[in-house]
Amino acid sequence: MAYQALYRVWRPQRFDDMIGQEVITRTLKNAITTNQISHAYLFAGPRGTGKTSAAKIFAKAINCHHQTDGEPCNECETCRAITDGTLNDVIEIDAASNNGVEEIRDIRDKVKYAPTVADYKVYIIDEVHMLSTGAFNALLKTLEEPPANVIFILATTEPHKIPATIISRTQRFDFKRIAASDSYDRMIYILKQKDVTYDDQAVKVIAKAAEGGMRDALSILDQALSFGDNEITLDNALLVTGSVTHELLATYVQQVLAGDTKAALATLQSVLEAGKDAERFTEDVIGYARDLLLYQQAPQLVEEAEMGSVSDDFKALAEKTPAQTMYAMINELNAIQQQMRFTTHPDVYLEILTIKLAEIGRQPGTPVATLAAATPNAAAASTPTPAATEGQETPAVAELQHEIDQLRSAVKHLEQAPAPTKAAAPAKPRVNKSAPAKEVNLAKIYPVLGSATREKLNQLQEAWPDLLNSLSVTQRAVMKVSQPVAAADSGVIVAFDYSFLYQRATTDNELTDALENGLDRMIGAALPVVFVPKDEWPVIRKNYLTAHKAELQNNAEGEPEEPATPAANPVVTKAEELFGKEIVDVKKD
Ligand SMILES: [Zn+2]
Repeated sequence: MAYQALYRVWRPQRFDDMIGQEVITRTLKNAITTNQISHAYLFAGPRGTGKTSAAKIFAKAINCHHQTDGEPCNECETCRAITDGTLNDVIEIDAASNNGVEEIRDIRDKVKYAPTVADYKVYIIDEVHMLSTGAFNALLKTLEEPPANVIFILATTEPHKIPATIISRTQRFDFKRIAASDSYDRMIYILKQKDVTYDDQAVKVIAKAAEGGMRDALSILDQALSFGDNEITLDNALLVTGSVTHELLATYVQQVLAGDTKAALATLQSVLEAGKDAERFTEDVIGYARDLLLYQQAPQLVEEAEMGSVSDDFKALAEKTPAQTMYAMINELNAIQQQMRFTTHPDVYLEILTIKLAEIGRQPGTPVATLAAATPNAAAASTPTPAATEGQETPAVAELQHEIDQLRSAVKHLEQAPAPTKAAAPAKPRVNKSAPAKEVNLAKIYPVLGSATREKLNQLQEAWPDLLNSLSVTQRAVMKVSQPVAAADSGVIVAFDYSFLYQRATTDNELTDALENGLDRMIGAALPVVFVPKDEWPVIRKNYLTAHKAELQNNAEGEPEEPATPAANPVVTKAEELFGKEIVDVKKD
């Protein structure tokens, strides 16, 4: 028999089997036993929290003739047919793949026919927010005049994308993230049933990594199982989840708390070299720092949570570190974590984070406001940071400057990191930060600007995350801080936050090839990609608009299908067309 994923095999078949949604299951069971069934429900909540499972259990319970206390019997013909997905009266639609108006029109046509076998016809529409506007309108018409014995269950991870007119016609249930301890309990139960040997710590690591989704927890568990021979080991769990071992985390936190920037940067480097995810690492450090803080106030809680495996190093660290230092660290970690979510270079942020944390560790209780200047841009630029030049020459600042220099060399290390295929290709000339910046190729940029459209740019921006995911790890590291800023049928202009990464990208032909191939697959055209440093982009754009003012005016006049309003400045109109209203800022001459 083919292997079946754990989350399928262990999908709950009764409300009481569902994990972490007690309020919802109790309400639904109560509605069934008291026969107060609504004709439309909205199940909203994060992925893997049981929305479609609850929908199917509900469909069974209202149709099962042996229902007790709102639970289906799961044994009668109707129950079994719904479980297997073979009952024609229970229709599951995945809006992510059926987003057309046609499918919903089809519902409108068929909805008026009474259920053939069951008492109720149930439509379960998953990821309902993906429906097109036309489909929503068609659905709304059906919900406005609901036929008897028809129930709609709309499930979504993004309720804010559903029109209010639809939401107001449903009874809404918000599914919660599942607590790590709940998914831990469930996994332990399943592992015991399956007679699998497991390391308790490993299951905890998986529960934490799943972030509130039971399906994710079981998928990770599946992966960890496939690594080991019917065994869940801590190593495999760490490998699968990308979490950092407790020892490595402990080392890192000890180093920053001791103010040893150099050693902490080295530890960070080995974490990243092991392929660990920067965001995951930040989360792990936050978790560690919170545990330290918690241990100072309620050691038994940490002992319990860690199943009694609290190390002596951890205890020593908790005893000697002032709570104030810990709070300062957590604040810093949270701030960096927020910044890392957006178009940033997470590795660089982690290096800055390490310097800041070490500063906090060295001077417990001292505000670290002067460190605010050490943003990635300042660190990557070749000029001294403002903090060092604005008359704040305290010893701490001098020391900080020294550390920023260290960071720069760390950045330089990144910059000089070999391309993945280095062994096969002759060594590329090293790009030195002190070397004059590689000049921007206007001959390639201007033709793209000449025919760029907002529409094309939108298309590109939408495909961008997928495009980056198709690159190798090293290529992705370079491109992480980039974004398309203009696009035409003749090419794409991509801007970089850091000039050293711009330098790196322009000299990497393999990267350009990979991007163009990716574009070919994703948008059907291998558009040439041109790079620019982000700080030079506004100037390039402005110069282009100035130089081509007359031409742009002529173009605008020569387009009868798009008559310019008398008051509109054709250059501004063209600029808005190219870059969108929000980023056009043409100053009056
Ligand atoms: Zn039944």
